[in-house]
Amino acid sequence: MLPTSLEQFASDNNSGICPEALDYTLQANLGSAPAYGNDEWTERASDYFRQIFETDCEVFFAFNGTAANSLALASLCQSYHSVICHETAHVETDECGAPEFFSNGSKLLLGKGEDGKLNPDAIATLLTKRSDIHYPKPKVISLTQATELGTVYSLEELEGIGAIAQQYQLKIHMDGARFANAIASLNQSPAELTWKRGVDVLCFCGTKNGMAMGEAILFFDKTLAEDFAYRCKQAGQLASKMRFIAAPWLGLLETGAWLNNALHANQCAAYLAQQLTQFPEVQLLFPRQANAVFVQMPEAVLHYLRQQGWQFYTFIGVGGARFMCSWNTTQARMDGLIADVQTALKI
Ligand SMILES: *Cc1c(COP(=O)(O)O)cnc(C)c1O
Repeated sequence: MLPTSLEQFASDNNSGICPEALDYTLQANLGSAPAYGNDEWTERASDYFRQIFETDCEVFFAFNGTAANSLALASLCQSYHSVICHETAHVETDECGAPEFFSNGSKLLLGKGEDGKLNPDAIATLLTKRSDIHYPKPKVISLTQATELGTVYSLEELEGIGAIAQQYQLKIHMDGARFANAIASLNQSPAELTWKRGVDVLCFCGTKNGMAMGEAILFFDKTLAEDFAYRCKQAGQLASKMRFIAAPWLGLLETGAWLNNALHANQCAAYLAQQLTQFPEVQLLFPRQANAVFVQMPEAVLHYLRQQGWQFYTFIGVGGARFMCSWNTTQARMDGLIADVQTALKI
């Protein structure tokens, strides 16, 4: 047996495959099926997305989030267009220029806004800065839901952004790396948080929710999906054994695991935030609204935690430590961390 480390709050990507995703994968492995998405699993998963989003959207799959975001943005933009996103957006900070690369040069315009969220004022500032031909024309607003800083856009906030998008004829792309956590946090339907608020395309992440790999790309405006299949294929994102992305997706959706996993992760983060902020030396950096807890704590404590083998990031957003919960976070793991923080504070 290889050693496995459970002492981690580094990322929801560090977690394994959840039982439901694994179970459906094993079912899909019985016998053969047509390749390249022409199988029944892919059809059933796509139909299930249409059902839970209550609309006849176009559904595609990709291996990871960088590809999903980049290809989706490329389908909304010409090379001379620009994409408005928050300065801490994953498309800006963690995709190695892939959105610009796949769109043949569309520029990202970075907006500001509290708690990792764009707002209509920040968007308007970027939109009205220039209107001449020497500057790339704004075409898309990209929102991350839940955000990179563990916060969520409320219905009202999405409404406000939808209004400015409509006013300036901009498309809306949603990076849903933690879309399930946003749904679990807001207790709103997927439709309410997407197409009913003007979202044109959603990149819905299965990986962080409990799959081995796989993202769904949902086009609510079907005209934007024209030729998207070619874009996926050219970018090396058309899985030949597509059923092994589609089946675990169906497993998450059909059993309700997608929401249960997110609820569990959010509840863990709520507990962690509540326990950690009982120590006067620990400050919450952003409201805890999804499955991440960002805190400021003494450097000596962070050092001690690392010595004890705890894994977490300190480079996301504005510094501080990020503790990320997932479907397999346990009470014992959280209590172990809290106990070690307490010990470190006494040293
Ligand atoms: C994890 C993540 C992605 C996807 O990243 P990949 O490593 O390409 O799968 C996209 N957006 C956000 C906000 C993320 O956290």
